[in-house]
Amino acid sequence: MKSQNVKVLIINAGSSSLKYSVLECPGATPLAKGIAERLNTATACFNHRKGDQKWTWDIPSANHGDAIRKMLNVLTGANTGVITNTSELQAVGHRIVHGGKYSGPAVVTDEVVTDIESYAIYAPLHNRAAAVGIRLMREMLPHSLHMTVFDTSFHRTIPPHAHLYGVQYELAQKLGIRRYGFHGSSHQYVAERTAELMKKPLDSIKIITCHLGAGSSITAIDRGRSVDTSMGMTPLEGVVMGTRTGSMDPAIVELLMKHENISIDQIDEFMNRKNGLQGLSGISSDMRDIVEAAQKGHPRAKLTLDIHNYQVRKYIGSYHFILGGVDAITFTAGIGENSDYCRAEICKDMDFLKTKLDPEKNKAIRGEGFINTKDSKIKLLVVPTNEELIITRVLWDNLQKS
Ligand code: ADP
Repeated sequence: MKSQNVKVLIINAGSSSLKYSVLECPGATPLAKGIAERLNTATACFNHRKGDQKWTWDIPSANHGDAIRKMLNVLTGANTGVITNTSELQAVGHRIVHGGKYSGPAVVTDEVVTDIESYAIYAPLHNRAAAVGIRLMREMLPHSLHMTVFDTSFHRTIPPHAHLYGVQYELAQKLGIRRYGFHGSSHQYVAERTAELMKKPLDSIKIITCHLGAGSSITAIDRGRSVDTSMGMTPLEGVVMGTRTGSMDPAIVELLMKHENISIDQIDEFMNRKNGLQGLSGISSDMRDIVEAAQKGHPRAKLTLDIHNYQVRKYIGSYHFILGGVDAITFTAGIGENSDYCRAEICKDMDFLKTKLDPEKNKAIRGEGFINTKDSKIKLLVVPTNEELIITRVLWDNLQKS
């Protein structure tokens, strides 16, 4: 049993970035956070934040190892720091994009790291960087409890008829081709919070959670269990996203490769980084810029918004049907939390479900709460996501056991 005021570190190692935050348990109080970006380039930089204070350093050509060393220096620094010694970090939570077979968090062992590397066939950029990050962190913080929390775990409850594609069964088994789903900690947190706000047990209600950010996924949650989600084997499937295509006819890939001279090595980058809101609008991958341009009458910006909101509505409609009705639809992440325009468009014309968005509540909401009219059958909510709380809770629970 650990005493109060335990500090934990959460790490999210991306292909060219490293995000971190230090929180104090058991309340998950944030103490400091930061991000090292554009790693392995001449313009690599490091941003650190403690309360209202912010620092930025150039760290040209720094790699993940350099960024981790810098992070530990900053966290123990006289002004920038929140600990005096790295041994105060009793646990480290590694957020991992692809967790393959894992249906829950895992205490890091050599085998876990090898598994994470093997899932790089589905998420090459993310999982390789994550494995590098874990190895380095274990060396530098040998006395901390290291745990992985996978974005995919929450979706392991999706049944085979919903997680398999129409690909040859044997091939699918051999290569692990199936829907894994992502943003698991976010969907889990948002569903739990929705139940709390509705004052109903989570295991008594059905919810559609819409995580709409730079990457977006929509999940059907039946009494606390994910039963379907829009992202698939990789985070490319589903609705159109900042720079990702979302779902499309697979034959488009062949056509692009043949007629646009895109090689097999370039296609993943092309689909993930050069399409979506950015490619459709020709303006930006940021929804704020697109809403602003559409308001000024830019036709492609308006079309981009329409495509985005239509696709989200399509998932909501299909999940409403497969769940046999829902109690709540909850919005989260950058767009879901902040864009009253997108929420209004997504929730329009729901009278046939005796469901209605309250335009004033929708415009006024800051933070969490209901945005439906009083008589609305399905409750409509906004809940700011808090993936770090889920990860901190995992660490705290395991520290209690150790
Ligand atoms: P990530 O998937 O990287 O965690 P976020 O959840 O932070 O992304 O979402 C980032 C996106 O949220 C931005 O790209 C932007 O499009 C969108 N966003 C943030 N604020 C607003 C806003 N006020 N209106 C519309 N979109 C917004």
